[in-house]
This record gives sequence, structure tokens and C-alpha cells, in this order.
Amino acid sequence: MEHNSSNFIRNIIMKDLESGKRNHVITRFPPEPNGYLHIGHAKSIVINFDLADEFNGKTNLRFDDTNPLKEDAEFVHAIKEDVKWLGYDWDGLFFASDYFQEMYERAVLLIKKGKAYVDDLSADEIREYRGTLKEPGKESPYRNRSVEENLDLFDRMRKGEFGNGEKVLRAKIDMSSPNINLRDPVIYRISHAIHHNTGDTWCIYPMYAFAHPLEDAIEDVTHSICTTEFEDQRPLYNWIVEECEMTSKPQQIEFGRLNITNAVMSKRKLKQLVEEGIVDGWDDPRMPTISGLRRRGYTPEAIRTFVRETGVSKGSGFVDSQMLDHFVREDLKMKSPRTMGVLRPLKVVITNYPEGQVEMLDAEINPENPVMGTRQIPFSREIYIEQDDFMENPPNKYFRLFPGNEVRLKHAYFIKCEEVIKDEAGNVVEIHCTYDPETKSGTGFTGRKVKGTLHWVEATQAIPAEFRLYEPLLQKEEAEDLEAEADHEAEAEKSFLDHINPNSLEVIKGFVEPNLKDIEPQEKYQFFRHGYFNVDPKYTTKDNLVFNMIVSLKSSFKL
Ligand code: ATP
Ligand code: MG
Repeated sequence: MEHNSSNFIRNIIMKDLESGKRNHVITRFPPEPNGYLHIGHAKSIVINFDLADEFNGKTNLRFDDTNPLKEDAEFVHAIKEDVKWLGYDWDGLFFASDYFQEMYERAVLLIKKGKAYVDDLSADEIREYRGTLKEPGKESPYRNRSVEENLDLFDRMRKGEFGNGEKVLRAKIDMSSPNINLRDPVIYRISHAIHHNTGDTWCIYPMYAFAHPLEDAIEDVTHSICTTEFEDQRPLYNWIVEECEMTSKPQQIEFGRLNITNAVMSKRKLKQLVEEGIVDGWDDPRMPTISGLRRRGYTPEAIRTFVRETGVSKGSGFVDSQMLDHFVREDLKMKSPRTMGVLRPLKVVITNYPEGQVEMLDAEINPENPVMGTRQIPFSREIYIEQDDFMENPPNKYFRLFPGNEVRLKHAYFIKCEEVIKDEAGNVVEIHCTYDPETKSGTGFTGRKVKGTLHWVEATQAIPAEFRLYEPLLQKEEAEDLEAEADHEAEAEKSFLDHINPNSLEVIKGFVEPNLKDIEPQEKYQFFRHGYFNVDPKYTTKDNLVFNMIVSLKSSFKL
């Protein structure tokens, strides 16, 4: 694997190893199993696994499943699949919920040290007492309960004697700290709920801010890499590791999130798209989820290269989605066979070609990669071309087919348009052409030149196929504004759904070469003059071949 790009986290790890602060490296990818992974998660995966790999370290996959209400085994399964598909193999597979007993004991230790207390204030009151950036917080009247009383109450919380929200356990730190995270954060709450892993064993659950540092320390994680919104929590993270007397001392390091133009990335919004039926599941090819990108036809190689090229820094800008497209083209250019497909067919009859005759023509499979060899394609008196490739009254510089004009058929002959057949309504239904046998491709014909080269498929053997063409799911050029609005949750929810692009999916029916008869889901082809397509794994059946357009051939995007 290549690891050339500069990365400030790598520098920290190198220093830690050189100075002897560390003698090994363990990282982790810690998803909450409350949704499917998206390309932002891919960034975290690549950073964690690549760094450990580079320093002969280990990376754990750890499910951060401390919230019983939102988590589900379906998500656990999907996340494992996605990480493997991206090309990574974890060392340890862990669940935060496996540490609930130890976390409980560490909380008891805090109580015994006078560093945690049971509070009876309601959630609203706690928020009120917390103060603001300008004003210090106010101490809870329950803050000075004795150790004995706290131990007894916490034990009874655990036994289920209290209802949801009646009591919480708080760390006793500093209500006047300039860092609000240190103003006696809640570390345990009551939730009478069934947990996907521990069932009804527990009715108290650790808060993320308490659980996460403990999980890292229990696994001897050395570098706990997360996104910048956790920067202000770092002092709390260190406090918990210290005061809970963890022997292993992980270091939290933050980097800037990946955001992509035209895409919403928060799991909450993605979930909404799925639940409201705006997309056909987490793996809809328009979704920025790993499973959506896979189904669309993006490759793990392209995603990894893209993520690496976006770099690792503290800042979190928006990356143009065309950059990902660039890398998938780069990856597929050498790998994917060329073929011809007609998306919007128009029948062409070659009137001077013998009726009933079919000849086989040679065509290279990939001119960029000649070792891929050649294929044979049929040619006969009837073919399909693209509706766009004919115009009865063309503008200047239209070099495709029009009455009297001659064009080249890729891998075949020159044909000349002799007659246009229309239906009663005046629509063009068929074109009659003649071909010139002298102009056969591969024979070195130099007699005359034509300006246009068209793709085509032979009509009697062509396989019907469905093509699914995509545009961004969001109409807005930049999803940035939407993310900014996220402060006003309800409004943002609405405005985000207001920007759904009604034309994000177009389904059309056309034809492909007979060579594609037995292709399998997830196979990728470059359709000449169109772009790269992937065989859709969800809708393709023996009798219905469905292609997802991955990307067009060219773009104006420059790296
Ligand atoms: P979301 O906000 O999309 O729901 P999350 O942070 O709640 O994501 P987690 O399951 O907690 O989702 O994320 C697992 C890991 O992936 C975390 O370490 C998180 O920081 C990282 N991560 C999530 N989104 C991004 C992103 N856009 N860019 C980089 N890393 C991300
Ligand atoms: Mg999270």
C-alpha cells in the first residue's frame, strides 16, 4: 500500500516511537451500529488501518454500542461487510457493551474517590445549571452527597429502582471550568431498554464521553483518532483515563471530517432518506454510503485513493465529488473491458447488406490494456444506433448521421444515410443506409475519411438492458449551507428534503452486445462513448440485465 501523502498524525506516531513514549501502535475504528457506513467513515477507516499498517501495529474494529435505543444487529453485519470490502482486515473485533461490567466498576471507583456523584436534577435543570461560555455553571444541590450515599444510590440505579431520567451519575470535576465539558458531565444514565447485545442485563448505560476513553484504554489503543468536534472533549477524555486509573493511556488525536459536495453525510439524514422511501435503501446507488457506492460501481481502490489524496489535516473543507469520479475512472481505465451499448435505440437498416447474413467482427477488449485480447461482435443488415446520433436537420459541425452523410461504425464499416422513415405523426422510426464493404475496420482502408464514429449493436442478437442514469440526490451545489443550518434541527430537516433533485434517477431501456449474455452482478464495463457501468446486484435477473452508470467518460475536473 502506498502511504506517500503527508499526514500530521503519522508525524505524531513517529515521534512517539522515536522518543520511546510508545513501543507499539494500536488504532481502532469505532462505529456506532446505528446506520450504514458512508464515505466519511471510509476516511476514518483508511486513516486508522493505514497508519497501523505502516508502523506494524494493529487496528481493532470496535462497535461503540452504548446506546440501546438506536442500535441494531443488521447494522453490525453491514458495517463488517463494508470494512472488509474496502480491503481491511481488523485485528480485534470488539463491542463496547462487552465492557459494561468494567465500566460500571470504574464508575464505582470514581464514586469511592469522591470524583462522581448521583444527581437528582432533571435533564433540563442540568442544562440550566451548566452555565454558558460566558457564565460559570452552578453546583447541583446533590453535589456533596457522601460517598456512602452515592454508592448506595448508584447500586440502586443499577438494580432498576428508578425510572428513566430520575437520576444520573455525574463526574465531579469543576462547575466553573471554562471548558463546559468539564462542568460535571453526566457519565451514566438510566434507560430501561433492551440492548442488542446485553439484553436486559443493564438498565443503566455509560455516556459516550465516559465510555469511549475507557474502551480505548481497555484495548490498549495508543492513538485514538477521531474528528475535530471532539477536540473540546479531550481534557475530559484524559481526566477519565487518569481518574479511572487505567494502566494504558491512549492519546486522542483529532482530524477534520470529510465532506463532499452534493451529498448529505450525517447518518440521521441518510436514515431519513431510507425511511421516507426517497431512496430504495441504504445501498441506493445515489447514497454516499459504502454499500451505495459499491452498488453504483465504485471500487474499493478508487475510494481508498480518493480518501488518501484528500489528506489528513485539522481543517474540514468540502471536497468536490468529481474527485472521487476521477479516481474511479483512473482505476477502471485499465481493468474494465470495453463494450458497446445503445441507451436510446434507433433502428438502422443497411439496405445493400445481404439479407439473412451475419458476420463476426474483431474488436479489442481494452485498447489501453492489449493483453485483455479481443472479442467477436456480430454485424448484419439491421443494427441499432443512438437516437442522438441522427439528426434530420443538423446544425453546423454535427458530424454524426444525417441525410447524405457518411460515418464510421466502430469496429465495422462506413455507412451513409440514404433515407429517413417516419411514422404518421412524423417521428423518425428508422434510418435506411448503405455500407461500403471496402471500408471494413482493420483492413487499412485509406480511400477517404469521415469525421464521425458511432457505436452500435446488431439488432437480432442484441440483449435488451435497462440503464439507470444518476444525478446528485441533492440539487444544491454545495451541501455546506445545509450542514450550517443543522443548528435549527427541525428547519434543517425540512430544508434538506426540499432540495432533493427530482431527476436524480432516470431509467431507460436499450440494448447491449450479445457478449454480455452471462455477465454477473458487480461486473464493470466501459460502454464506448458513454462511460463506466456496473451490473446492478439488486435488480439484475436472468432475464433483466440492469446497469448502473458509475461515471461518464470525461470531466472537466482537474486534480
Ligand atoms: P455521522 O455524523 O455520520 O452519524 P458519526 O460520527 O456519528 O457519523 P460513528 O459511527 O460514531 O458515526 O463514526 C465512527 C467513526 O467514523 C468516528 O471515529 C467518526 O469520527 C468517524 N467519522 C464519521 N463521519 C466522518 C467523516 N465525515 N469524516 C471522517 N470521519 C468520520
Ligand atoms: Mg458518533
